[in-house]
Amino acid sequence: MLKRIQSALFSVLEKRKFLSDEEMYKYVLMLSVTIVAGSVHIMFSIFFAVTGCQPLAVSHTVGVAIFLLACLMITQGIYDGAGIIVSIMIALSTFSTIFFIGGDNYSIFYLITVLLMLLTVPFSNRIISICGGVLMPLLMVAAHFLDALHTPIYSIGKANETLTVLNILINSFGATTMLSIDKFVRSFVDRFQKQQMQELQDQAYLDPLTGLYNRRYGDAHFENLSIRPQQGSVYMGMADIDDFKLVNDTYGHDAGDATLKLVSHIFQSNTRKTDPVFRWGGEEFLLVIHNVTEEEAFQLFEKIRHKVEETVISHEEDQFRVTITIGMGRLDTNAIPKSLDYCDQKLYEGKHSGKNVVVR
Ligand code: GH3
Ligand code: MG
Ligand code: MG
Repeated sequence: MLKRIQSALFSVLEKRKFLSDEEMYKYVLMLSVTIVAGSVHIMFSIFFAVTGCQPLAVSHTVGVAIFLLACLMITQGIYDGAGIIVSIMIALSTFSTIFFIGGDNYSIFYLITVLLMLLTVPFSNRIISICGGVLMPLLMVAAHFLDALHTPIYSIGKANETLTVLNILINSFGATTMLSIDKFVRSFVDRFQKQQMQELQDQAYLDPLTGLYNRRYGDAHFENLSIRPQQGSVYMGMADIDDFKLVNDTYGHDAGDATLKLVSHIFQSNTRKTDPVFRWGGEEFLLVIHNVTEEEAFQLFEKIRHKVEETVISHEEDQFRVTITIGMGRLDTNAIPKSLDYCDQKLYEGKHSGKNVVVR
C-alpha cells in the first residue's frame, strides 16, 4: 500500500525531475500542506452545510477554490505566494468560524498550526516567516477578543461538540506533522532522487531495442566476476542469429528488429534472473550461466536453440522462423578475454558446420 502511494507520488514528481533539490523540497512540502488544508476545507464545507450554517459552508467552499489556486501557483513555482495564501485562508476560516458560531470549539488552534507551518516552510524571503511569526500570536489575541466580545450569529447545537473534537484532532495531527514534515519531505525527495539515479544508471547499461544488458554492462559484470570468486562453474554461450542479413533483406529492417526482440525474449525467459544475457553485437548475444556443470549449460543452450528454431515470428503480413548458433565454453574469471575468444571460436566452428547448433 505504502509502496503504491510512493510510486504514485514519484510519478507526479517524474515531470519535475529537473528541479533542484531545494525546489523539489519546497514543491513536495507546499503541495502536501495545501492538499491537506484543502481536504480539511472540503470536509468543513460539507459539515457546515449539513449542520445548517450556510455562510460557513460557502466560505469553506470558496476556501477550497483558493487552495486549488494555491496548488496551481505551486506547480508554477510560486511557493512563497502559495504559502502566504494558504496561511491567510486558514486564518480567515478561523475568524469566520468564531464570528458565525463562536470560538468555544477550539477553532483558535488553527492559528497555532499556521504558526508552526510558517516556521517550517522554507520561504525564500525570511521576512515572510518573521512577519508571520509575529502576526499569528497577535491574531490569536484578536481571535480571543472577537470570541469574548462578539455574540455568535448562528448556533449549530450539539454539532459544536463534534466540531470541537474534530478541531482538537485535526490540529494535533497538523502540529505533529508540521514538527516532523521537514525530515519526512527530505527523506522522500532523497528516495526519489536515488531512484532517478538508479534509472539513469540502468538505462546506461541497457540496450534500448531489446531491453537486454549492453556490452558496457557486460564489461562491468566481468570485472566484478574477476574480483569476486564464484561458487561453482560459470559457463558462457555466444549466440548469433543465422543468416540474419537475409531476414533484413527479405522482410525489411523492422522485421529484423522484431526478430531481435523476440529472440532476446526467448533468452531472457529461459534463463534465471541471476544469469545475465547481453546484446554483444548487432545480432550476437552472450549468455552467462552461473553455478552449473558443462552438461547442464549445454542442455540449457540446446533448449534455447530449439525454442528459437520452433518459434514462428509474425511481422505484418510475413511469418518466418530463424535459427541460432551458439558457441559455449567455461568462463575462467582469471582469463576472461581468452574465455570469450574460446566461445567465439566455437561459434565460428558451428557456423562452418552448417549453423543451428550448439558447439562445445
Ligand atoms: P551468419 O549466419 O553467418 O551469422 O550470417 P548473418 O547474415 O547473420 O551475418 P552478417 O554478419 O552477414 O549479418 C548480420 C546482419 O545483422 C547485418 C546487419 O545489418 C544486421 N543487423 C545488425 N544489427 C541490427 C539491428 O539492430 N537491427 C536489424 N534489423 N539488423 C541488424
Ligand atoms: Mg548472424
Ligand atoms: Mg554476427
